[in-house]
Amino acid sequence: MIIVMLGAPATGKGTIAGLLEKSLNIPQVSTGDIFRKMIKEGTELGKLANSYISQGNLVPDEVTIKIIEERLNQPDVQEGIILDGFPRTVKQAEALDKLLQAKGKKVDLVVNLETPEKEIIERVVSRRVCSNPECKTIYNVVMNPPKEDGICDVCGSKVIQRDDDSEETITKRLSNYFKLTEPLVEYYEKQEKLLNATVSKSINKMGKDVAKDIEEYIKKGDF
Ligand code: AMP
Repeated sequence: MIIVMLGAPATGKGTIAGLLEKSLNIPQVSTGDIFRKMIKEGTELGKLANSYISQGNLVPDEVTIKIIEERLNQPDVQEGIILDGFPRTVKQAEALDKLLQAKGKKVDLVVNLETPEKEIIERVVSRRVCSNPECKTIYNVVMNPPKEDGICDVCGSKVIQRDDDSEETITKRLSNYFKLTEPLVEYYEKQEKLLNATVSKSINKMGKDVAKDIEEYIKKGDF
């Protein structure tokens, strides 16, 4: 099964994809995580990606599509994949459809997460992540802090703030989301693949609740 997680920054894509990875036993692949790993390793591609990411801009389509093309050829994702943060432009979505078509596959479900903008900003500023790339547990210093300050509950590594999770960068990331990524809602609506879900404390629905709803939806559906 091929699932795409769509939504503005900090709507819970990573949290929900991580929970679905465990319950559905399908690997989560995050382009943001791939870029962060490259940046940490100091590769040329990492340096290039960082010049965009640190400004709150998208990494160019050509670069991102190539990375996903290579990832889709790896053996662990042949039975299914949860794409977290890809596609982010119509060009990427078209490329994904083509890549999958060539393999006799298709996107089965697109989860579109919505969160009020004010809450997004609060969530970005208070988001912390485990620095261990094998763990990547996500925390919120207000709503869901680690038990010991700055230390991951799961693996004991340092819990850090992402460089691009600042109030200045999120404004740019959000404007890029509305300009470049939001048109994908219509793109997938036309393909009748869209499942809309609201993640918001105002309706008491957080990532873990929405993950459960998605599992139920998948169980009932014909995928
Ligand atoms: P994320 O972890 O998904 O929030 O991604 C972090 C950053 O990586 C984004 O703000 C973009 O700069 C970059 N990025 C991640 N995925 C993509 C993509 N599909 N296309 C272009 N840039 C991306």
